[in-house]
Amino acid sequence: MDYKVDMRDVKFQLFEWLPTEKLLENEKFADWDRENVEMVLDEGLKIAQEVLAPTNEDGDRIGAQWKDGEVTLPDSFKPAYQTLCEGGWVGIINNPEYGGMGLPEVVGTAVNEFFFGANMSLSLTVLLTRGAGNMIEIFGTDDMRSIFVEKLYSGEWGGTMCLTEPQAGSDVGASKTKAVKQDDGTYLISGEKIFITAGNHDLVENIIHLVLARTPGAPAGTKGLSLFVVPKIWVNPDGSLGEPNDVYCAGIEEKMGIHGSPTTSMVFGQNEKCRGWLLGEELKGMRLMFYMMNAARIEVGLQGSSLGAASHQAAVAYAKERLQSRHWTKFKEKDAPQVPIIEHPDVRRVLTTSKAYAEATRALLMQTSYYIDMTHATGGEEKERYQSYVNVLTPICKAWASHWGVRVADMCLEVYGGYGYTQEYPAEQYLRDAKIACIYEGTNGIQALDFVARKLPLNGGKPIRELLGKAEATFNKLKGDSQLMEPAWMLGAALKTMDTITKELTKRPDGILITLLDAVPILDMVGTILGAHFLLDQAVVARDKLGAILADKGIDPEDEKTYMAFINDNAEAAFYHNKIQTAIHFAYRALPTVTAHAAAIRAGELAPMKVVM
Ligand SMILES: Cc1cc2nc3c(=O)[nH]c(=O)nc-3n(C[C@H](O)[C@H](O)[C@H](O)COP(=O)(O)OP(=O)(O)OC[C@H]3O[C@@H](n4cnc5c(N)ncnc54)[C@H](O)[C@@H]3O)c2cc1C
Repeated sequence: MDYKVDMRDVKFQLFEWLPTEKLLENEKFADWDRENVEMVLDEGLKIAQEVLAPTNEDGDRIGAQWKDGEVTLPDSFKPAYQTLCEGGWVGIINNPEYGGMGLPEVVGTAVNEFFFGANMSLSLTVLLTRGAGNMIEIFGTDDMRSIFVEKLYSGEWGGTMCLTEPQAGSDVGASKTKAVKQDDGTYLISGEKIFITAGNHDLVENIIHLVLARTPGAPAGTKGLSLFVVPKIWVNPDGSLGEPNDVYCAGIEEKMGIHGSPTTSMVFGQNEKCRGWLLGEELKGMRLMFYMMNAARIEVGLQGSSLGAASHQAAVAYAKERLQSRHWTKFKEKDAPQVPIIEHPDVRRVLTTSKAYAEATRALLMQTSYYIDMTHATGGEEKERYQSYVNVLTPICKAWASHWGVRVADMCLEVYGGYGYTQEYPAEQYLRDAKIACIYEGTNGIQALDFVARKLPLNGGKPIRELLGKAEATFNKLKGDSQLMEPAWMLGAALKTMDTITKELTKRPDGILITLLDAVPILDMVGTILGAHFLLDQAVVARDKLGAILADKGIDPEDEKTYMAFINDNAEAAFYHNKIQTAIHFAYRALPTVTAHAAAIRAGELAPMKVVM
């Protein structure tokens, strides 16, 4: 399966839009400069295209197989995973002290877009392994760090996060898995977890599970949960492997997509011999787990965005090849030749909308990743400010990027006509694989509730005001602009609507119910405003660069014929030109949805609560 990505846009967003070069001057990233980061990006893309993408179809068609407690993955996954381990890609953003590459988060996000886009199933294993390693590095004891962290960052061992139980999905506090302290300080773990990604497989010799469990007498709900490090095979103090640890994989799910990622049912302690170490303190498990989940939520949003972007690239390539129907200017000429479908206005609209959402979600994820880097590169109040931005943006990254990633994959599938529905092209696998990003790590509905209930009011609403203030600054910058004035005013209107709605909701007597009912639209409104702000901000950068190219070549942008001939002939100029057009398109097509949602919210439309179901 081919995998294509718009590397030009990735590098534009990293180096021409975000101040990544300045970030690299920070002592934390002293080993890195723009040149070697670009080499990492190029190498990462090469691996995605040449190593991971060719195994993506095996993941889908052969998938994970379960037999007698053991799980095997397609043969082609093993050398591909080995390549990731040997190149240090598992620990790309992690601490070099434990074998990580130590790259900034924002660069990791760029590379992980390639990996998820090329083979989401295999890359999921990597995500959780890196996450488990990071948790032990931050919250573990010195002994735990020395035993586990390097093995996880190198990918030699795998990692999981075990929250879900049959009765405890969104309601994690309903977990029943037990942990009882033993004289030697370890805990006996017993219980069943379901839907555990990569809970067992044959890519690694050991798997380190992070398990939420309840100690005797612990209070009900999430406050009673503690977190445990539970290896598949027990690890001795010197790091050598001991006995199997009474962790059994009782089966895997047959599911819609990501067939190459085993979704396992795990039984801990069926023979009462499953041991684990406490991570952090008792009863603090959920707080710790949130640390892992928040990082994973951004990467889950990235999965949606990556597969959307990959779907768009594949659909553009198909639309350039597929001949069908006459050119729209010749539709009455029965003998006119068929043209590539990319000539048809409707197909162009779909491809431009999908491009706009792919770039807007990429921008959101990169911007948030950059803020994460700034929490490491700064201290005091500044650090707190960046952390508050990350907190507010995390549910938007997860839910908005995954929602639109799936929508993009869906609209791009239709570009293929009937072929999109067949397995001859990757479109249907992209769509099936992307859908899970809307569900796990907390459904998008739950993300929206978190956003309206916790993130909007965070610190008295200061972080969200500051983030939307940046969008306001884009409006102010462009409100008198000859080319971008109208899109800017649409952004200004959306911002005003958002502001009014938020104020009104806090005052109305039915405000709480309306907020719960409209949490998803409210999150979408903010995501759309931020997306428009990012794309317009990028359009300004692009216009300056394009202006310089045109001036250099002596091209008059007002002379449309000469200008378009030049754009069609010059890839750099075409890239910048497209950035401007994409921002305009997004403003006209996406921003009006903010007003549409607002109308229902202001009217207090409560039909869903009245419908008899
Ligand atoms: C492929 C796959 C991989 C997974 N990997 C992991 C993993 O590695 N580790 C792990 O621990 N879990 C994992 N999960 C579990 C996943 O995180 C849960 O499925 C998800 O959180 C939803 O829980 P649930 O399925 O029980 O749905 P439920 O909680 O039953 O939710 C059903 C519906 O009700 C809605 N809902 C629930 N409560 C509310 C509420 N208060 N207000 C409004 N709406 C509500 C939800 O939004 C959803 O639409 C995985 C799941 C899948 C399918």
